[in-house]
Amino acid sequence: MTTALITHADCLSHVAPAGHPESVARLEHVLNALEPLDLMRVTAPMAADDDILRIHPASYLANLRAALPSQGLANIDGDTFLSPGSLDAAFRAAGAAVRGVDMVLAGEVQNAFAAIRPPGHHAETDTSMGFCLFGNAALAAKHALDHHGLKRVAVVDFDVHHGNGTQDLLWDERRALVITSQQMPLWPGSGRADEDGAYGNVLNIPLPPDSDGSEMRAQYQAQVFPRLRDFKPELLVISAGFDAHRDDPLANLNWSTQDFAWLTAELCEIAQELCDGRIVSTLEGGYDLNALSTACAAHVTEMIKASA
Ligand SMILES: [Zn+2]
Repeated sequence: MTTALITHADCLSHVAPAGHPESVARLEHVLNALEPLDLMRVTAPMAADDDILRIHPASYLANLRAALPSQGLANIDGDTFLSPGSLDAAFRAAGAAVRGVDMVLAGEVQNAFAAIRPPGHHAETDTSMGFCLFGNAALAAKHALDHHGLKRVAVVDFDVHHGNGTQDLLWDERRALVITSQQMPLWPGSGRADEDGAYGNVLNIPLPPDSDGSEMRAQYQAQVFPRLRDFKPELLVISAGFDAHRDDPLANLNWSTQDFAWLTAELCEIAQELCDGRIVSTLEGGYDLNALSTACAAHVTEMIKASA
């Protein structure tokens, strides 16, 4: 078996203002870092409207289309922007998540990494937010549940920011377990341990500022891994953000590249134990270009090792 790398050049056509941290260069650095790796390279399709409508209302899609500029940039919520290519990028990003699920569940590959932007985990049901337009990871989970008929899907979000969008989109989805670790306090401010979903199906892991990988490892071993084993997902979706890295400029956790590799290897092992190793990972944040690309390559390398 192998690992799929799913991406599309359209994801580079989503442009933010100069100096904005969620830049085209992020994905360019990630793709360069993944270039030497042994991956099945897959072109991301556009998601269909029906895919997006699994998680967002039609009015939200219509509003985004209406706001799309024919030139220049449109600011839609303070720190989220649309350029003329942004919806093509967002539909490819969502399409990559859907295709990853299709490939992994069909047994075409062991696992899949969607190298995409814009990221997705802050997009709520009818609100774009924090550089995110469509909830890619939540969509992957919903597609697996509703289209493929799985009974249980888990999402693990290790981006340094709270996965408020994924939490919102899957809050009352009892077939989904959402686990998100985040620095707290930090934007967007949500993600307290007592936010636990309509059916106790959300697990928030707040991590203190300036804590390092040892705190992360302890929390994942104490809380996350047992919860996954208890839930027994049939597919694991990962929201892979790399902004908990010690070099990231937007947050204050001190994870090393090796911490990302450790966490990925542990998640792969649990997936092997619980769901035949089926993982779909989607790129979220990470804003120091070197830390992002190095940690992302470490993440995908562990997925490749697990698929061997
Ligand atoms: Zn983030």
